[in-house]
Amino acid sequence: MSPITHFLGSWAISDATGLAHRDRNLVVWCGLLPDLDGAGIVVDMANRLLFGTETFWYGRFHHSVLHGLPGAIAIVLVVSAFATRRVHVFLWGFAIVHLHILCDLVGSRGPTPFDVWPIYYLGPFSNELTIRWAGQWQLNAWPNVAATLLLIGYILYRMVSAGRSPVSMFSERAHHAVNQTFSRRWQRLRARRGEGHWSKLLGLGGDEACKRGRAVKQENPVE
Ligand SMILES: [Zn+2]
Repeated sequence: MSPITHFLGSWAISDATGLAHRDRNLVVWCGLLPDLDGAGIVVDMANRLLFGTETFWYGRFHHSVLHGLPGAIAIVLVVSAFATRRVHVFLWGFAIVHLHILCDLVGSRGPTPFDVWPIYYLGPFSNELTIRWAGQWQLNAWPNVAATLLLIGYILYRMVSAGRSPVSMFSERAHHAVNQTFSRRWQRLRARRGEGHWSKLLGLGGDEACKRGRAVKQENPVE
């Protein structure tokens, strides 16, 4: 799957862990870092543009260095070293790296049916446990698009119901700006339609959620 879908999915799971803000962010990084082994694409492009030579770092290393057990252990060991609750981040991170691997196994195929990406579970040390699924769908196939849209919907829901968003990983100020914009829009929509039972059912509180989010932040600076 695309790094964006991995990011949204990792954030949605980290949101449910009950960990503090910093540790949740570290869990999200665990869900993203396996794709670091695809960074060879930058080297390939640079070599082609600058020197006119063809290299194949992307094809050679992507899915074979950080998309297996050794990569998972390396990622969570490094990331959990920065955590407050190291064991929790280690375990959540280990699970989320494996979710990343599973998502790639089912939905990261290239354009033709022959472009199936295998997972070298013991890579880069051994090709013994190479996992390949013939039903792997394309990277831009509808299940991936549907998953991305569902995750965006869930994140918007969390934004208006709990005042949380993945934007806070990068900038608190941007997070509050985005949060306020969506909460105001939700409040306006709610005012136009009345306090419907769907709002109550979903527990959506518009601006109150943003205020609640800010109140939680003031009470607990790491939240
Ligand atoms: Zn991946």
